[in-house]
Amino acid sequence: MRTLGEMIERNARLHTDHTALVYGERRLTHGQLAERARRFSGALYGRGLRRQDRVAILAMNCAEYYEAYRACEWAGFILATVNFRLAPAEILYILKDAAPKAIVFEAQYADVVNGLRSQLPNIEQYICIGDTPPDWAVAFEAVMEDGPAEGPPMRSNPEDYAYLMYTSGTTGRPKGVVRTHHAMCVTAESCALVTEFSGKSRVLQTTPAFHVGGIGFVNAVAWMGGTTVVHRGFEPKQMLETIAQERITFTFMVAAMLQAVLDVPELSSYDVSSVENIVTAAAPVPPPLLARGIEVLGPVFSVQYGMTESNACWLPAHEVKPHGSPDEVRRLASVGRPCPGIELRIVDDHGHDLPQGQTGEVWLRSQTQLSGYWNNSVATVEALRDGWYRSGDMGYQDKDGYIFLVDRKKDMIISGGENIYSREVEDALGQHPAVVDVAVIGVPHEKWGECVKAVVVLRRGEHATEAELIQFCRDRIASYKCPKTIAFVDELPRLPTGKISKVMLRKQFAQ
Ligand code: ATP
Repeated sequence: MRTLGEMIERNARLHTDHTALVYGERRLTHGQLAERARRFSGALYGRGLRRQDRVAILAMNCAEYYEAYRACEWAGFILATVNFRLAPAEILYILKDAAPKAIVFEAQYADVVNGLRSQLPNIEQYICIGDTPPDWAVAFEAVMEDGPAEGPPMRSNPEDYAYLMYTSGTTGRPKGVVRTHHAMCVTAESCALVTEFSGKSRVLQTTPAFHVGGIGFVNAVAWMGGTTVVHRGFEPKQMLETIAQERITFTFMVAAMLQAVLDVPELSSYDVSSVENIVTAAAPVPPPLLARGIEVLGPVFSVQYGMTESNACWLPAHEVKPHGSPDEVRRLASVGRPCPGIELRIVDDHGHDLPQGQTGEVWLRSQTQLSGYWNNSVATVEALRDGWYRSGDMGYQDKDGYIFLVDRKKDMIISGGENIYSREVEDALGQHPAVVDVAVIGVPHEKWGECVKAVVVLRRGEHATEAELIQFCRDRIASYKCPKTIAFVDELPRLPTGKISKVMLRKQFAQ
């Protein structure tokens, strides 16, 4: 299969009556999902959309979201996903950048969309998910009913862009990543391989559909003809209930979600015996949290390292052993080894390969990677060189090829000419019993260029002073890496992916 459209059709042929998608009371078989994909894309074609036109979507997770994915994949429209948590001005930035011809939005965002309409001359079709669309929009189901059963007279091509997906914006403004159908097919296949998906696999999707984590595993399980159960959002008790009811075999969590699940009272009363694999990704999961997860939920945790732009690495569940050999315990802090088909290099500032153990930038090359950034040739040229994608992540490789990430290049602090990796300082502070959350940033300093500042959240009811925490660090890491100042806050600013927004922190503490 060379396009996701071909995947949809193959599933409709081979797994016609097998469940593809579950959302609340709604259950769609692969046959029904393909039919709705054809109808919806046919209706969009009838309304004037053509090959590679963008269809934006602004919604929380719902069945229609994944129907829109499949419709665009079938026909060769580009689905441009929009983070619903963004402020109207940020949504406008993305919609202007993507310049879609149609937008699918949930009724709850009607006011936001209405407020932006006058500034979005490209949008000709406003399609509302919900029974009572505003008078300037048409209902999703009405569009669906308009569509011909055989779909539009066009199909996606392998070299078509499948999605226009914006990065989290951890290091600046979100960038629109475009990846082709071919890249997404290779990604789905490689992902299905490492996760050992089969037609019997049942994925629970609770993270937002607009993010790459909201479609990557959904495509991988669809590649094998399996099932996805979609939740509107993440709610720990509901997650456990669905795991039991739907006999879920696989789900995806970031660290904060795992913590919330482990905090559910009477956790042991839920039947989680069907779970074969829980992937953690997007940001590091502290090894003690992983260890607790394994104790309670079983040896099912694996680690994935990837980005909107590309697939990267995988640490399979059977290698995640908090009580294994010293090598195994050490590897808990790694993101595993490159996935099949992924080439990885660790390079210095001049693009020269570094020996094992030395820290440099992670460069990746594979057929899964982005074609470029939408409307942003400067970022594209910066990120792609001779076929290599420069990830902006700093890390090293151990003697067995396991990758350890130490920082984002943009988060690295350069103080008095020394490179300081914020993560190393965060790990040291994180060992203090009173510290529940921490972020380390560089702030401008007259003499040193930048100096290290830690922003700390203390555990409720615990106390620690700035001097005490700095001394705690000094006992563990070189003194030039230790924070010069510490700010105490109630909460750290986070992006929807669970990542700490250091951009916001740097802005806040720049003085
Ligand atoms: P932007 O490019 O706009 O700054 P972003 O890079 O955060 O945003 P994403 O594509 O959502 O956008 O995130 C990819 C990044 O997430 C990776 O480059 C890496 O830094 C981090 N990451 C992903 N998986 C892991 C993991 N398992 N452990 C640690 N970090 C991870």
